[in-house]
Amino acid sequence: MKVIDGAEYKRRIAALKSSVWYDGKLVEDITDHPAFRGGIQSQAELYDLQNEEEHQSITMSSSQFGTSYLIPRTKADLEKRRKLVQLWARHTAGMMGRSPDYMNTVLASFAASKNLLENEENCFPDRLQAFYEKAKGEDLSFTHTFINPQNNRASLSFLDEDDQNARIVDKTEEGLIIRGAKLLATQGGMTDEVIVYSAPGASKKEYAYLFSIPTDTAGLKFVCRSSFGVDSSRFNSPLSSRFEEMDSLVLFDDVLVPWERVFLYENIRAADQLYVKGKFTPMTLHQIVSRQVIKTEFVLGLAIKIVEEIQIEEYHHVQSKVAEMIKARESLKALLLLSENDSLEDEAGVMVPARLPLYTAINEFQRFYPRFTEILQLLGASGLVTLPSEDAFQSDLREDLNFYLRTGVSNGEDKVRLYRLAWDVAMSSFGSRQTLYERFFFGDPVRIEQVIYQSCNKESYSQFAEEFLHKKS
Ligand SMILES: Cc1cc2nc3c(=O)[nH]c(=O)nc-3n(C[C@H](O)[C@H](O)[C@H](O)COP(=O)(O)OP(=O)(O)OC[C@H]3O[C@@H](n4cnc5c(N)ncnc54)[C@H](O)[C@@H]3O)c2cc1C
Repeated sequence: MKVIDGAEYKRRIAALKSSVWYDGKLVEDITDHPAFRGGIQSQAELYDLQNEEEHQSITMSSSQFGTSYLIPRTKADLEKRRKLVQLWARHTAGMMGRSPDYMNTVLASFAASKNLLENEENCFPDRLQAFYEKAKGEDLSFTHTFINPQNNRASLSFLDEDDQNARIVDKTEEGLIIRGAKLLATQGGMTDEVIVYSAPGASKKEYAYLFSIPTDTAGLKFVCRSSFGVDSSRFNSPLSSRFEEMDSLVLFDDVLVPWERVFLYENIRAADQLYVKGKFTPMTLHQIVSRQVIKTEFVLGLAIKIVEEIQIEEYHHVQSKVAEMIKARESLKALLLLSENDSLEDEAGVMVPARLPLYTAINEFQRFYPRFTEILQLLGASGLVTLPSEDAFQSDLREDLNFYLRTGVSNGEDKVRLYRLAWDVAMSSFGSRQTLYERFFFGDPVRIEQVIYQSCNKESYSQFAEEFLHKKS
């Protein structure tokens, strides 16, 4: 089997019986629980889409595994990856940050960087390669958890003894023993596997590792927040009912990680190098920005629909707000294509998209996306709260609601349907979490800006200015 369909994805997740905790209770069947059902169904639809004949020239690589696992060797491979990501993103309006392509790309990027683990102490590039082959052969699904819990973020926090963070507490014949916590995993329990990696900057060797384990491994627990997807009405909650991905604290209660699943341990330098010099950042950012272009197009479309619905197009400030979104879309798309255009083949034969345009795009999106939601609020105004429910439209009030909530374009029900969509982007708990997600999920915007500053070849620009200063004619 090279690619799975939605039914197989659901069957596997239900069979796992992972230790997922919701509201203080162990979840029995995650695929049938109201907190998770919508997100799991949407994920299943993506797998079904992967199988559709008409899309297979995009969704499948020439070797018949999913394109999301493809390690790009040519510019055409990058283009194919972009098209796959955007096909899936269109199905979710870009609202599922963790559609399968995200983590499949992460694993492919680690495998594409295995040369950095060669001849390094406690590093196992062959195991990483074998695991990548297994994952793409079985079309495994993944979540990940990289960051330590948010306790002390002071620059000298590493001086504190910390028994909170997940760390290696023992090594046995069978494998590593891990104890402690990781900050969070989106879709914890909704995937076959979880990839666990030490964030760069581990200060002690027991905090440096990279491994993957099945989600139902003994001692592994996912502790969830409250779900934003419990209202299953598509009319009431058009996005939350379908694309709630859930976030969970990850606890390791003396978890045994078998040696064949350990790719790196107790080697701080190798763990850092894999992040800094490996292909994780450029390959993953290429996936992310491809999705963000589609999400921008969706939210832009929504803003245009609101402008048309209440006929406010004539006002200059309205045009200006929509133009802001158009410019954002053009900039993101240009940066994405620039990253492909400037991609370079590295020593391992991987076509690596250019980093700086992608870093620029994600850092801009961290600013753009909250502004998009603000623009929807500024255009939608009170329409974003005059939102009777689906049941209200099925009641004796129906006629009144259709009449008094009508616009020049729609009856009340259709107007509310549109505005509920905008509300789910810009105002609901789901919408706020989307904003927080786009601000932070790939890292703190402040520190991404620092990376942009540090990675830019500033000398070439200062030299240009210098030469100009001293030019005689
Ligand atoms: C919705 C959501 C989903 C996520 N999903 C996942 C997931 O599936 N897996 C995963 O591993 N991670 C996930 N993350 C975590 C994400 O990687 C982190 O949020 C991100 O790296 C920022 O870390 P933090 O949240 O701990 O913020 P902090 O580092 O605690 O930052 C908090 C504040 O302190 C400031 N600050 C802290 N340290 C510094 C510093 N050194 N210099 C300057 N300012 C500083 C920041 O600028 C910020 O204002 C997710 C995050 C969100 C919000």
